[in-house]
Amino acid sequence: MTSFLIDGALAVDAGSITSALSIERQGAVRHILLSHAHMDHVASLPYLIENSFAAGASSISIYSTAPILANLRTHLFNNDIWPDFSQIPSELYPRLRFTEIEAGRVFTINGPPSGPVRVTAIPVSHSVPTVGFLIEQGPSQILFTSDTGPTERIWEAANAAPHLNLLITECSFPSRLQHIADLSRHLTPVTLLTELAKVKTNIPIALYHFKPPYIDEINAEIAATRFEHRVELLEQGRTYEL
Ligand SMILES: [Zn+2]
Ligand SMILES: [Zn+2]
Repeated sequence: MTSFLIDGALAVDAGSITSALSIERQGAVRHILLSHAHMDHVASLPYLIENSFAAGASSISIYSTAPILANLRTHLFNNDIWPDFSQIPSELYPRLRFTEIEAGRVFTINGPPSGPVRVTAIPVSHSVPTVGFLIEQGPSQILFTSDTGPTERIWEAANAAPHLNLLITECSFPSRLQHIADLSRHLTPVTLLTELAKVKTNIPIALYHFKPPYIDEINAEIAATRFEHRVELLEQGRTYEL
């Protein structure tokens, strides 16, 4: 389940925030960039909202594009599966704020202790509306593709980014399950190789989103594949310094 935590306060996706962080640290998460509404990216949101208010925190802002926020409101915070916290305790002072962003347009999040973060959402090719994010602070840039099958726009963004430190992309299945990866719009090492050939700059690539039953198999296949970039598998629970 996917979550990245930047500087303690800004999360990218919310699949595992409550299982990874203490209640106190959950209370420091004030901003969430949401790439899409699949369960493995939103599963901890309902509990995070409850826990963070127990920790005395103010509202949490979720940023995403209109169709992704619509999925979240229709299917999760709909007063059936979970309360609509954008109306609780009141519409004026809600615990949860949905902030709609426009793909391709830079916006700024003030809040991380190390200073403002600039974010651009870029659509990718997954089975539901999904965006990746170019995340910038000072001279540093990270690109996160989120879940995607073969795609174009986000690789163009990678090629246009002047100071990219790290590109995080996915590899969900081993190549023997290529048909399942294609159906569900995910990558295997074979399609990852084709996709990374579109990235012209020599930046390190970090992989996430290995389906748990196939982690060892994907790892072995990645190790045996000759990528033009330096490719590593992200480790669960590890802190990376950029
Ligand atoms: Zn997904
Ligand atoms: Zn996913």
